[in-house]
Amino acid sequence: KKEAVHQVLERIKAQNIQFVDFRIVDLLGRQHHVTVPASEVDERTFEMGVAFDGSSLTGYRSIEESDMVMVPDPTSAFVDPFVEAPTLSLVCNIYTPEGDPYTRDPRNIARKAEAYLKETGIATTAYFGPEAEFFLFDNVQYGNSMKGAFYFIDSEEAAWNTGEPGLGYKVRVKGGYFPVAPTDTMADIRNEMCQLLERCGIRVERHHHEVATAGQGEINFRFDTLTRAADNLLLFKYIVRNVAKKHGKTATFMPKPIVGDNGSGMHTHQSLFNGDTPLFYEKGGYANLSQLALYYIGGILKHAPALTALTNPSTNSFKRLVPGYEAPVNLVFSKGNRSAAIRVPVAAVSPKAARIEFRTPDPTCNPYLAFAAMLLAGLDGIRNRIDPTEHGFGPIDKNLYELSDEEKKSIKSVPASLDEALDALEEDHAFLLAGDVFTKDVIETWIALKREEARSVNRTTHPKEYELYYDL
Ligand code: GLN
Ligand code: MG
Ligand code: MG
Ligand code: MG
Repeated sequence: KKEAVHQVLERIKAQNIQFVDFRIVDLLGRQHHVTVPASEVDERTFEMGVAFDGSSLTGYRSIEESDMVMVPDPTSAFVDPFVEAPTLSLVCNIYTPEGDPYTRDPRNIARKAEAYLKETGIATTAYFGPEAEFFLFDNVQYGNSMKGAFYFIDSEEAAWNTGEPGLGYKVRVKGGYFPVAPTDTMADIRNEMCQLLERCGIRVERHHHEVATAGQGEINFRFDTLTRAADNLLLFKYIVRNVAKKHGKTATFMPKPIVGDNGSGMHTHQSLFNGDTPLFYEKGGYANLSQLALYYIGGILKHAPALTALTNPSTNSFKRLVPGYEAPVNLVFSKGNRSAAIRVPVAAVSPKAARIEFRTPDPTCNPYLAFAAMLLAGLDGIRNRIDPTEHGFGPIDKNLYELSDEEKKSIKSVPASLDEALDALEEDHAFLLAGDVFTKDVIETWIALKREEARSVNRTTHPKEYELYYDL
């Protein structure tokens, strides 16, 4: 760590950095920052941290005990591309004034999950590769009115509002994957996002227009270790939003902004390694998966209803998890099948690339909590030898949207609402308490916050209600 601190301080000098920016997230995953003149930053900053008021952040401390400290991780530094004065940003861990890691700090929970993995002796490293899809909307057209604006953008309307005026070059409903320009009007913006991602140290693999109309996009960057992958995802959201803003657009990661078209998921690729040895591959098994990988899948699918309270934690999340839009509904695994909750990629896969793709999550999750929870579910599957093939979790290699009623009976599905997901988490969370990764307090706080969100949405008159009831 000393060495890393030294490197950051050298970099501040060498690159004539004027400000150092310290970042944390609240419990929901929203990013916050405080900025300090570079002249104030020295070795001690990395020991003592920077004080902040923990009572103003959602899910954190009460006003009577609000003093908190953020301590930067020196290996997380990147130069902020959106600030005029040269600014180095650092991701921080949160501590109490007594110097203890704060138990509600999501990044602390992510780090504990990695430590717990090592403790179990099952593997040394968990890799996560999230694919957060997003929409770019034109500020002028949509951004100014929150009042039901997106409801009235039904899919047909959205299609006609993109691209050139007139008849030509429209992205049709569900026709966004992946025509060339001039139909794809967002390629330059995605290029710019990718260049900034690279400049901030994130390796980009590809980008493309995604299936939905109206500028849905996806940018894939390289997988990383659990905490680091969550850091990267937050930096990715920051870059996507700020580049969009530069172009007079807003980016949204909400799971289902357009009625009647695909939503935005955050498929999460996962694998375990022992040092350099991949643990998910075994030639000859189903989709060349090892027994360990199957148990991991079993754990995820068994705990999936509870997991969704963390991986799909918004009322809007459950409007995405419906048949017909490439989002999963059924809790089964399958190779290549995009209607299953877990897909096992089989194209061009080497032992090291052997992995599973959990397709349920969406980008409204807090990635630290979501990744930690998925790892714990997978580890629970390994420790309890939950073979998915013996628990009705597949594999099923046909289109799950077209199952007969008889077939559907034997297959479990994702919760239908945030409240149902929270019910599941209330019932099933012992697996999250393993290794003290999550505490009871964190789970209770989370459930209380999310129940209140669901309540406030339920109490709000919905645009659809006008259509159904206004003149009834
Ligand atoms: N947007 C789809 C989802 O909601 C996924 C589309 C895809 O990546 N094939 O999960
Ligand atoms: Mg993808
Ligand atoms: Mg995609
Ligand atoms: Mg995917």
